[in-house]
Order: sequence, then structure tokens, then C-alpha cells
Amino acid sequence: MIYRKPVYYDTFRCLGGRCPDTCCSGWRIEIDEDSLNRYARTGGGIGRRIRGAVD
Ligand code: SF4
Repeated sequence: MIYRKPVYYDTFRCLGGRCPDTCCSGWRIEIDEDSLNRYARTGGGIGRRIRGAVD
């Protein structure tokens, strides 16, 4: 298999919250019913974090 990548690929680092463009701003992720139910039962801090991000 031949892999191709741009020359800047290996040194690229996303700026995250410091980025003025934020390419992922406004993105939404659809969750299927089974996953939503599983997340509802997920315990601990990760469960609270997931449920806090779902609307
Ligand atoms: S445009 Fe997107 S990928 Fe690029 S630095 Fe900003 S947030 Fe990161």
C-alpha cells in the first residue's frame, strides 16, 4: 500500500482552543439509541462528562 500525506503532516499540531478558525466549531455527533442508553448507564466521572455533553 502506498501512503501519501502532505509535507506538513508530521509537524502539524491543532491549536485547539487557541485557534481563531476552529474548523470543528458547531459540529454535532449523532448518537444511536443503543449508545444513548449505554451512556445513560455509564458511571463515574466519564459518565457524567458524556451526559453533560449530550442534548
Ligand atoms: S483550523 Fe481546526 S485543525 Fe486547524 S488549528 Fe484550528 S481547530 Fe485545529
